[in-house]
Amino acid sequence: MDKIESQDSPFPTSPVVPALYEGGKVIQFRCHKGIGCFNACCKSIDITLTPYDVLRLKRRTGMTSSDFLLKYTLPFEMAKGDIAGVKLRPVENTNQCQFMTDEGCSVYEDRPTACRYYPVALISMRKQNEYTDQDHYALVKEDHCLGHNEPRSLTIDEYRHEQGLEEYDEQGRGWRQLVLKKKSTGPTVGKPSKRSLQLFFLASYDLDRFREFVGGDSFNEVYDLPEELKQKIQQDEIELMQFGYRFLKQVMFDETSIPMKADAQEKRVARKQERDAVMADIVAKVGPLDTPPAEDDDKYKHID
Ligand code: SF4
Ligand code: SF4
Repeated sequence: MDKIESQDSPFPTSPVVPALYEGGKVIQFRCHKGIGCFNACCKSIDITLTPYDVLRLKRRTGMTSSDFLLKYTLPFEMAKGDIAGVKLRPVENTNQCQFMTDEGCSVYEDRPTACRYYPVALISMRKQNEYTDQDHYALVKEDHCLGHNEPRSLTIDEYRHEQGLEEYDEQGRGWRQLVLKKKSTGPTVGKPSKRSLQLFFLASYDLDRFREFVGGDSFNEVYDLPEELKQKIQQDEIELMQFGYRFLKQVMFDETSIPMKADAQEKRVARKQERDAVMADIVAKVGPLDTPPAEDDDKYKHID
């Protein structure tokens, strides 16, 4: 199913109906097991996952986040290469979802946001350098999908409720805002550092490794977390995921909400001064270097 990404600008291609709707818009749609096109959409997938989608599916499959990502997802670049994304990985040499069975979706209660929304698409828009986004909706009409001919009318809000999307939207909101903000600030000058992409991937999707990371020495040398929060994020995956959004907001946009240790900041400044002095010495001896260090690297260096 050609589901459009919720963060994308409206109407990148057909079959999206070229109109933006509010939640009160009445649509005609029903999908059910007896329909002639049953499973057609799951045989041709292009589904971007949110962190909450990954969390639900990794729980459902009983796998660690790393194992789940390896088996069920494909990495791709979002926001013109500035952000690491993951999509559902189809069955090899096909476009069919690995979770599809003759009976339908084998992970139905934990299916991803895009599967729940279809044939509605969430269109989040925001102004430059603002976090507040506005939600609108579009309708996707594909020839193979017969659900639009079914005699059932309901509003988009009712459809979202039926599909359990309030919870998914709420848990994905902080992450969606990060992606939108990154898109609205324009592309990174030069290539984004590998480390920044790795860190985004870690905090967004690979929650079990992110938990180890925030419990580790290098993180705790830099960040000064209250003991209660430390325990919460070690014990509760939702808290950990939401903390990941805060953490990324801080490292990507310098919006500080996680206290840092004073001496860690001083040490970092001292290390930077030391590096700058070494660079100045090299430049004095051999002339300017062609490639300056990536701008982002300094922000992410503590993840070694
Ligand atoms: S997760 Fe389920 S609903 Fe989504 S594409 Fe796969 S089988 Fe279909
Ligand atoms: S009605 Fe649409 S969403 Fe439902 S199975 Fe058919 S193609 Fe998929």
